[in-house]
Amino acid sequence: MRSAFQQHFRSVLSAARKVHCRAKQPPAAAAAMAPLSSKAGDPDLTAPAPASTISSQRCLPEPSPFYAGSGLDVWTMMNQAAAEVGAVNLGQGFMSFPPQCFIRRAAQEALDQNVHNQYAPPRGRPALLEQIAARFSPRLGRQLDQASEISVHAGANEALLSVFTAFLTHGQDHEVILMEPAFDQYAPNIAMAGGKPVYVPLRVLAAADKVISSDDWKIDMAELEAAVSPKTRIIVLNTPHNPVGKVFTRDELAQIGAISERHNLLILADEVYEHLTYGRDHVSIASLPRMWERTVTVGSAGKLLGVTGWRVGWAIGPRALIQPTLAAHTRIVFTTNTPLQEGVASAMRQAVSNGFYEAQRQEYERRRNRLMEIFDDVGLPYVVPDGAYYLLVNASAVRVPQDYLFPEAISSRGPNFRLAYFFIREFGVSGIPPAEFYCEPHRYLAGDYVRFAFCKTDEGLDAAAVALQKLKHHLQSE
Ligand code: GLN
Repeated sequence: MRSAFQQHFRSVLSAARKVHCRAKQPPAAAAAMAPLSSKAGDPDLTAPAPASTISSQRCLPEPSPFYAGSGLDVWTMMNQAAAEVGAVNLGQGFMSFPPQCFIRRAAQEALDQNVHNQYAPPRGRPALLEQIAARFSPRLGRQLDQASEISVHAGANEALLSVFTAFLTHGQDHEVILMEPAFDQYAPNIAMAGGKPVYVPLRVLAAADKVISSDDWKIDMAELEAAVSPKTRIIVLNTPHNPVGKVFTRDELAQIGAISERHNLLILADEVYEHLTYGRDHVSIASLPRMWERTVTVGSAGKLLGVTGWRVGWAIGPRALIQPTLAAHTRIVFTTNTPLQEGVASAMRQAVSNGFYEAQRQEYERRRNRLMEIFDDVGLPYVVPDGAYYLLVNASAVRVPQDYLFPEAISSRGPNFRLAYFFIREFGVSGIPPAEFYCEPHRYLAGDYVRFAFCKTDEGLDAAAVALQKLKHHLQSE
């Protein structure tokens, strides 16, 4: 019998041969992407290549179809559109204010120590593992073993990718259930790991033309269970939820947990906003009876400390789940950057005693209330978020002229993208079209919502309030 390595080698070889043959034709994708006209002086990519370069160009392999498209991710697309007109950026969920001084200093001090500038162990720096264990042991209702139950990652995103990579197998059609709207990285990360996302949308049980609660967005548990197949491996649960702001109740978590037990599934709990809830308690599903053994809980220093650019996150779970996750992480990035792990560890240590976490939570609650007031003033209803830092605004009352000119890249992505773009161009405020958080057949469920982030400065929110005054003249009732 051929070994797995030999089979892998043969398939790589045969793929390489195919590339070689196909490269004799100009790649179709390249032809489709070719510019319609070239500016004077620019190389004309559609013109035949000079004879001397043909042979080398023919050897270029095509990119994987998975990455070959020109489609930008929603964050880059909306950031670019906002920057073009200098719009107030309430789109991507990054903080527009600087991290607190003690947090910046923690990173600076780490950089100044030679030992903190070399590779970290793949699992993570002991100082950070210790802080994660200290914070999450009480939240998960058990004493975490930092030597086996935690791994540090290059952001929560890479923690998620590592879990998918560890538990999905290429060629076996493994399925992962996502609850929509679902953060846009989940589905591609699942596909990269060889799996297939299966979508179950949250259902809105209230009239969306009024201000409603994020708790009005519910998972139909029968629908969730019906989505499970013999190929299902994982249910992804995001609480507090991006972009709805829903904080799943203990009862909802127990029902999801019961489904995972009945079908022997893993739960991947994306809890990166665990520290930001408003008048509700965040409950970790891993703290519920019997859930620990089947759950990986993912967290983020970027969100916890307001340093999304540091790319430090973690995964917590039983040894049996963290060991393969760590093995995948080791092959994806090997280790997470050392100085910022140390910076996070030091900042988390200080934050326990300096009151940072509660002060930060109150600040976000204040910003949330401010953004809700802004939309109350202009007359658009929204979903009151109980957690995280996003506001879903229902902009169905905004009149977008039929003949409004949209760039093709926006227009082709449907009405929800057009609406978000209209906000940027006409009102100078950028948000994210939540359609991006739905699979194609469910995109209509994004309706006329636009997501606005409130992890922004008071000046930014004030500027948005002024800019949005123009919106009052675009309401349907006018
Ligand atoms: N989590 C953030 C958001 O939803 C940023 C996501 C990203 O840029 N990939 O806005």
